[in-house]
Amino acid sequence: MTSSRFVQQVLFFTGLISGCSCANAEWFSYQQSIMGTSTTTEIFADTQQQADQCSRLVFDEMRRIDALMSPYIEQSELSDINRNAATKPVKISNELFELIQRSIKFSQLSDGAFDITFASVGYLYDYRLKQHPNQQQIRQQLSALNYRNIQLNAEQKSISFSHKNTRIDLGGIAKGHAVDNAINLLRKCGIRNALVSAGGDSRILGDKNGRPWVMGVRHPRDKDRVVVSIPLKDAAISTSGDYERYFIEDGKRYHHIIKPTSGESVDQTWSESVIANDAMTSDALSTTLFVLGTENALKLINSLDGVEAIMIDANGKMFYSNGLMPPTVH
Ligand code: AMP
Ligand code: MG
Repeated sequence: MTSSRFVQQVLFFTGLISGCSCANAEWFSYQQSIMGTSTTTEIFADTQQQADQCSRLVFDEMRRIDALMSPYIEQSELSDINRNAATKPVKISNELFELIQRSIKFSQLSDGAFDITFASVGYLYDYRLKQHPNQQQIRQQLSALNYRNIQLNAEQKSISFSHKNTRIDLGGIAKGHAVDNAINLLRKCGIRNALVSAGGDSRILGDKNGRPWVMGVRHPRDKDRVVVSIPLKDAAISTSGDYERYFIEDGKRYHHIIKPTSGESVDQTWSESVIANDAMTSDALSTTLFVLGTENALKLINSLDGVEAIMIDANGKMFYSNGLMPPTVH
């Protein structure tokens, strides 16, 4: 692709420009590394003390969710599931039960493009150590990768796997859930305007001094370039990209979003951004659309209410869902 294809644009997402949120307050910024990513919180508050106190709630919540859902923490509820659910039903918290239930809904919606059992093959990749499975290893694990191998028992609040090699990982949805919880906590803390981001998942509460926040989608091959800017208020935006966790071997990019039908990294998409009312939806859908590829992704997003998407395919071509007004050239 040529870089000239990327023109800096401002999209107008209808109905997003708002009135003033004036107050004798100011913005306070916080950053911590949690859930294996950079987490930032911007809070509009009357005093530093209030902002500090409310930001603490955000980071505590992110750490709580990480401790519950990380596949890298042995004591996490998720690790317990992966150790035991293939041999017996495992009782789980309401929170995890509901998130897994929502994940399965996204699998059903996308004919299995979004599938938390991707981990049945996904665990064989290590992007830091530049390790990937060979074809034989993938073949051995591929029948374990199927969301239909997950059985949820709503009465018992338990989960079991019908395949002995099945594993799950909530990496495609948990950050969005954490961001939503964080925004709810900020609201309860008396905050009316804020921005919370965990890696590629952000949610805006209110606006920025009476105007929308302008959120940039970065160039998938140049982190310093923004290819499109989107004004947003009271909305969530998530971006999935093949540049987040990856390594290149023999010219092939191995990255963290796995196509469930092949057990390999998706190679049709560079980045996928989704705008929704909540971050769990934008998070899960950005991963879903990334796997689906342009044509099917556009079909799906245009069939759903209240969500929009911007996608960049593996040729650097950009596509927009119907609700985003395409830019005009004069
Ligand atoms: P995101 O950055 O939100 O697109 O999430 C990427 C993460 O989703 C990866 O790091 C994996 O943990 C997880 N993931 C990878 N492939 C899939 C898939 N096909 N379905 C659901 N989650 C996936
Ligand atoms: Mg996502």
